[in-house]
Amino acid sequence: MEHTLPELPFKPDSLAPHISAETFEYHHGKHHAAYVNNLNKLIKGTEFENMTLEEIISKAKGPVFNNAAQHWNHSFFWKCLRSKQTPELDEGFMMLINKTFGSLDSLKTKFSEAALSLFGSGWVWLVDNRDETLSIVSTQNAGSPASEGKKPLLVIDVWEHAYYIDYRNKRADYIEAFWPLINWDFVMRNHMKEKK
Ligand code: MN
Repeated sequence: MEHTLPELPFKPDSLAPHISAETFEYHHGKHHAAYVNNLNKLIKGTEFENMTLEEIISKAKGPVFNNAAQHWNHSFFWKCLRSKQTPELDEGFMMLINKTFGSLDSLKTKFSEAALSLFGSGWVWLVDNRDETLSIVSTQNAGSPASEGKKPLLVIDVWEHAYYIDYRNKRADYIEAFWPLINWDFVMRNHMKEKK
């Protein structure tokens, strides 16, 4: 099965000045594209060739896992972003956030602290623990909380390539800029899917 680079779900210049078109040109057009190309090369003629992306991630190790998981993580990350005004969170989901974190502000503070303190490259996720509770989970490199049975709802990429063009070494500024770009519709849909 040939894996393909998904289109961005928004125009690459529509998130500026928070995230520039140049960042997407590199982050999506070069970094994400390279993971997809590497994956296709690595799986050719192997047991992984006819598996779905999810099957590869659950079974592979080493370079195959890394490229497959980075492909999945980036595809998910793009969907977490939106150029339009963030809509209101629905009441049920807000209640769950309040129950878990105290408030939306407190979730933002904890999520941002986790994103800032992650050492090296990785991802910070809001996950559904599949038991009516939410958590914030950090994963190194290509790691995914799905490997531990948790359902991803939201993610921020904190690899340097995600912010270096716009923010140089200032990861905190990138995290702050990320917050108003969150596609809460997507986050809530991920949670709804989990409930069914
Ligand atoms: Mn990335």
